[in-house]
Formats: sequence, structure tokens, C-alpha cells
Amino acid sequence: MSRQRFTATPFWPVRRPTREVRIGDVGIGGRNPIRVQSMTTTDTQDTKTSADQIERLVAAGCEIVRLTAPSIRDAENLREISAELGRRRVRVPLVADIHFTPNAAMIAAEHVEKVRINPGNFADRKKFEVREYDDAAWSDEIARVAARFRPLVRRCKELGRAIRIGTNHGSLSDRILNRYGDTPSGMVASALEFLDVCEAEGFFDVVFSMKASNTQVAIAAYRLLADRLAERAPGRAGYPFHVGVTEAGDGEDGRIKSAIGIGALLEDGIGDTIRVSLTEDPVREIPVARALAARYDARAAALATLPVEPCDPGAPFVDDPFAHARRATCTVGLGAVAFGGQEPVRAEIELGPVPADPAAAARALAASLAAQATLACEGLIVDCDAASAPRLDAFAAALASAGVRAPLAARLASEDVETAAKSIVRVVVPVTIASSRDGLAMAADGAARRGVALEWQLEGRPPVIPALVDRALTASHAAAGLSVLFSVASTLPVHATRALVARLRARAAAQTPVVLRHRRDPSDGDEAAILHAATDLGALLCDGIGDAVAVGGFGDAGRALDLAYRILQGARLRTSWTEFISCPSCGRTLFDLEETTARIKARTQHLSGLKIAIMGCIVNGPGEMADADFGYVGAGPGIVNLYVGREIVERQVPQDEAPDRLVELIRRCGRWADPA
Ligand code: SF4
Repeated sequence: MSRQRFTATPFWPVRRPTREVRIGDVGIGGRNPIRVQSMTTTDTQDTKTSADQIERLVAAGCEIVRLTAPSIRDAENLREISAELGRRRVRVPLVADIHFTPNAAMIAAEHVEKVRINPGNFADRKKFEVREYDDAAWSDEIARVAARFRPLVRRCKELGRAIRIGTNHGSLSDRILNRYGDTPSGMVASALEFLDVCEAEGFFDVVFSMKASNTQVAIAAYRLLADRLAERAPGRAGYPFHVGVTEAGDGEDGRIKSAIGIGALLEDGIGDTIRVSLTEDPVREIPVARALAARYDARAAALATLPVEPCDPGAPFVDDPFAHARRATCTVGLGAVAFGGQEPVRAEIELGPVPADPAAAARALAASLAAQATLACEGLIVDCDAASAPRLDAFAAALASAGVRAPLAARLASEDVETAAKSIVRVVVPVTIASSRDGLAMAADGAARRGVALEWQLEGRPPVIPALVDRALTASHAAAGLSVLFSVASTLPVHATRALVARLRARAAAQTPVVLRHRRDPSDGDEAAILHAATDLGALLCDGIGDAVAVGGFGDAGRALDLAYRILQGARLRTSWTEFISCPSCGRTLFDLEETTARIKARTQHLSGLKIAIMGCIVNGPGEMADADFGYVGAGPGIVNLYVGREIVERQVPQDEAPDRLVELIRRCGRWADPA
């Protein structure tokens, strides 16, 4: 069994214990709520514009604000910005963002409450050198890096400033890349080298981040760091974590990607302050971050007086929590579509009750799905009771005549399985602690005789799930030839689904496919509903769990289908559109990133399976570009470099021409298709 020290238990929400680090008036970690922060996109030498934006951020609910300090002059101007905020009576801790310039960090520390350094470039410039380091050379390099970093640690200790050791997947040093590659292990090793210097100086006001644009990599890196810190100091409260997904992009996709990565970690109890990085006005990041944090602060308050409910499924939920691997399952045929095995993670829609007017509902559904013509609807499920059951075959016939071919499933009670409509290919049967063994046996026998697949939907909090799995498996085993799937309906869906798959492993049923179901909470607003769907489904998908996702409660069927596919793309399980890895921009940005991203998106969005990185500068460029097919990176005022993978293929392109040149480049590489 692999180490799982990153969380107290994967089967119940428990926040990772950390020390409190003070950033001016604001505490991070300890018993503090999850803090929300952002970063300015203004020129740090422009005092008024920067103070204006900070004032708007604070008014929106931002609790900590970061500014870039790429030069000594920028670092010096942090004093003016701080003074201007004081004159305006805006109280908010400031953080200086440092890449490449230790001298600027020393000055910035005088004027702000925290300094963020990037271990990948604090003491190194990127040269993409391939070099073998023997132990002596490796030690020499670490000593050199420590000597560059130590003065800043000492100065921050004297001044009472905090330091964020902010590692980025996209900007690891050549030395780390040579030994560890572009991996979560390399990110963690890089961060811990800097922690060694802090601890040797008796400095403990440290916050960590491990950002990546790939949600799977970000989750793995944060977990691995939590694990390594727990190993270094067993039983002691760890250092707080600043959690975020970098270069998440804009619009709904940026929000979904952020909700998957940040939400998955908050589900693990990891995260003391969060930043949602959107390629938009940073003020628009704040409601998103607040909606994500509020869910976990509310949950923590609700559970504060309750003991952790023990849940022991008898096996781990995943072999390796530090690397994504899709759970191996068997294939179950469901009419024209199969779930599990090598099939893609399927997308289906929860429709709610069987419609009162099947023909009208089928026409409306067909029209709604036609608006998402490029997305296959791979399953439909309706809730069925004695009153609505007679309409089910009529609804199936109306769907067929309206051109909707998705296989139909019905959620119904155990005793109704045998007599259920002929048109369905799967029955979904709820299992609760009140379900009788006879009732479950009746459902299993009925499904086997009818030749339809049976999905057991386990209902309850994580601690009851193992017993429900046992009951369902016992009933299934007695029914020869039955195809079985599982799903969960729980107020804690991530933890309960982990308990499900862990129990299936413990009962030698590890290969049983699992459907991830999400219905919108009617009390959620529109944005919160999308974020919660993304977290609940995406966290499990990133753990490799899930052979299908089913989304419901969003009113329009096409909207639900679109959301399901966007979540699959955000979790990197299925790619339906071009993925844009675009940075949020900051004072280093060399062009209008929001407008440029919109222009490039308008030209290339229809291309399927492509990743395009759009970066304001080169700081995170090369590493994140390794994950992208094409890159568009600011190289100077009004100048852009174009990349294919990590290689610069066109230099010094005037910004006005660059979007057209990018399209030409995509054509030359054979990746272009005209829009339909
Ligand atoms: S990549 Fe974007 S956000 Fe990051 S430092 Fe460069 S301009 Fe700023």
C-alpha cells in the first residue's frame, strides 16, 4: 500500500493541520479560514493604476494582493504603492512576485508583507542544458543556490516577512529537470531545497505552492509535497499551502479547470489560501475563489463539532495517489454504447422524471442536443415510478423518431425492475441502509432475467458505503450473467466514491465500472453550480475514477452535456476543443493578454485535440509549452515568439501579425482544419 500521509483519511473531509503564518494582519493556515488572493495585472511602476486595481480587488473580497517586481525599480515602487494604499485607507497585505532577480527581492522585502520566490529561477537562468550531475557537482550547485537565497531569508526574518516558495511545473531549473524530469517529484525536490535553507536559518514563516496548468500534475505535486513534509516532521503541523492551477485560461473553461484542481485539493483538506488564475480582469477571479473557499469553510464549520467518522473499506482507493492512472475496469455494453475498459469516459445526462408529454419532451431534447452537434450524448437517464412507468416506452419511441439515439436508463425501485419498460438498457437501483436483502436480490434477479445492466446507486455518507457495497455484491453474485455498475449519491460524493472503489478492491470486484453522478444543488447560483459540478466530478476523474459522468439539474439537456464534456477536458480525460493554456497576465505582460487570447480563440477554438499556450512572458513559458502543441509568448514590447512544443520556430513577430502567423504555423504543421 502506497504512502497516504498527504491526508488524515481519504474517506472523510479533514483539513490538513498547519502552523499559522502571518502575512501582515492576515493569518494563513492554522485555524484561519481559507484566504482568497489575487495578483495585479498593472505595471508595478505605475502607482496610481496599481493602487486603483488593488482597491477594486479588496472591495471584491480579495484578502492578499501580489504584484510583480521584475526589476529593482519595480521593487522600490512597492513602497509608493503601499503608501498610496495607506492614504486611501485600504488595508491589505502585499506580496512581491520575484523571478530571476534576488536583488529586487531584497528591496521588495522592505515594503511588502511576503515575498514569493520561484525555486526554478531564483538563482538560475534557463539554458536547456543537458548535463549529468555527480553527487559532488549536485552538492556544489545546492550550496550555490543556498548562498543566493540565504540573505533574503535572513532579511525576511529580521523584518517579520513571510516567504512563499512558489514552484511552477513550467519553470523548473535545468538541474532539477536533468535529474527528475518534468515531474511532481522534481517540483517537490526543488521546493524542499529552499526550505532547507529557511529551516537552517531558524525561519519558519513559509508558505508553499506547486502550480501547474495540468490539473493532474498540480494535484499530484501538492499531495506529494504534503506527504514529504509529513515525513520530514512527523506529528508536527506542516507549512500552509497556497493552492492554484496556473494558466487556467479564461471563461467557463478557466473556471472549470480551477475548480477541478483547487477543489480536488480542498477535498483532500489541502489548501490554506487560494488563487484562481484567469486570463481576465483579476477582480473577476474573486467571486470564483470565494465560491470555492466558502464551500469548504462551511463544511469545516458544520463538521467542527463532530468526530471524524471512521470508514475502513479495507483497501486504499488508489494505488498511487501521486500519479494519475485510470482505474482498470471491465467493459459493460449498454445498447449501442459501452462503458468501462478501454472506452472513453462516457458523458450522459440526468433528465429527471419521465416527461408527462413524451413527444414534446423528445422534440425539445433533440433540439437542445442539436445545438451541441459535435458532442455525443452517450446516455440518458430518467427517474421512474409506478405512475410514470407506462410512459417510458412512449418516451423512448419519441426519442428515436426525433433522432436521439442515446441508450436510455431508468432509476427505479427494486420491485419494479422485472416489469420495467422494454426500451431501457440499464436500471439504476438505489441502495440505502434501509434496503432489504430480499429487495436487492429481487432487483438483481429481475435485471438478469431481463438482460439489462444493473447500476447500484449507493446512498449515504462514506462510513456506510462499504456495507452497502457488500450487500449489493452479495445480491449481484446470486444473479448469474448480470452486468453490474456502481454509483454514489452522497452529500460527500468524493469521499463516498473513494470508499466505494476501495471497498470494491477489498472485495475482489475492483474491475466493476463506476458512474459519477452529479445533480445541481438547487440552492447554488449559476457560477457555484458549475464550480461544484467541476470539483465533484473532476476530483474523482483526476484520481482515475469514473467510467462515465452524468450531469443533471442544469435545465437544458444540451447545457448539461456541454458541461460534462468541459469537465472531462479540464480533467484531461477527453479533449473536444482546443485547450488554451493562457496565463492570467501580470505587470510583466508584454501585450493585452485577454484581448489576444480572445482573438486566437476565435480563430482556433474549433480545432479538436490541440493545446495552445498563450503567455505574457517567458517566465513559465518553456515548461508549460512542453505540454502544449503551439506557443505564443511575449518576447518584448509588441513582439511575440511562436513555438512548436518547446522550440521557438518564429522569433520577433510583430504582435499585430502574430495571430495570423500562428494560424499559418498550425497549417504548416498539418494540424489545421477549416471550421465546419
Ligand atoms: S507568464 Fe504571465 S503571469 Fe506569469 S510572469 Fe509572465 S506575464 Fe506574468
